[in-house]
Amino acid sequence: MSRIAYVNGLYVPHRDAGIHVEDRGFQFADGVYEVCEVRGGKLIDARRHLDRLDRSLSELGIRPPMSRAALLVVLRETVRRNLVRDGLVYLQVTRGIARRDHAFPAASTPPSVVVTARAMDFAAMDATAAAGVSVITVPDNRWERVDIKSVGLLPNVLAKQQAKEAGAREAWFVDEAGNITEGSSTNAWIVSAEGALVTRQADMGILRGITRTVLMEVAEAEGLAIEERPFSRAEALRAREAFISSATGVALPVIRIDGHKVGDGTVGPVARRLRARFHDFTEVGS
Ligand code: PMP
Repeated sequence: MSRIAYVNGLYVPHRDAGIHVEDRGFQFADGVYEVCEVRGGKLIDARRHLDRLDRSLSELGIRPPMSRAALLVVLRETVRRNLVRDGLVYLQVTRGIARRDHAFPAASTPPSVVVTARAMDFAAMDATAAAGVSVITVPDNRWERVDIKSVGLLPNVLAKQQAKEAGAREAWFVDEAGNITEGSSTNAWIVSAEGALVTRQADMGILRGITRTVLMEVAEAEGLAIEERPFSRAEALRAREAFISSATGVALPVIRIDGHKVGDGTVGPVARRLRARFHDFTEVGS
């Protein structure tokens, strides 16, 4: 089966899919994106992802490329054409194609839209979750608007590569105060030594993950005490549990931070339970 990508109004073979050399996404990382889980061929939490897309676009002054209904049609059609049952759909919107100039192009410039979809092995992800993962910590050297889901991800790319070279799954960013903000492509959580579920408040210092939002609903239903506040690397090292969250990984238990065991170094009950109940709380699209 050959993969298909949606590029500016056309469904094209993935291997031939390209954008213009003067697309502002390519030139300036002047664009935003979303990654949505696909399960059983259906989009998971599309409404929340498209709400966040609207917010990212409006923070950057990029106009919505089409109506939400039209965007949903494109997302679903891309999933369908790629025969994805379980996997992800990726959506990117940029400020469009214009002669290279830092300032915005004419307001009439159409935004560019790219959508791709691919299958993933969720059983393998479950096995990863059952085994637990390692993280390393790195200085948070990103700009101060990481609440915007921009495609400007160079610090995240470098951090993830550093994690990979260290044999870890993820890199956790640590801010100047010594607090963990989030991972390079995930939100960061701990179950504190006192037993509270802790994740940083969603200010401009982290991306408000959709998985994070849904996991909070799961935690509330489970009667867990939730604290949205900064937590330090030192507190994380004393924690009972830790985990990372994202649309495709859901909640992956962290069993090592910078080589130190978290708790007894095995997957903890809170992360396991939140992961198990996650899909009871998501919105399943048509
Ligand atoms: N933080 C960052 C920096 C991310 O890139 C992501 C994944 N896009 C997340 C958190 C998790 O967000 P979500 O749960 O919406 O996938």
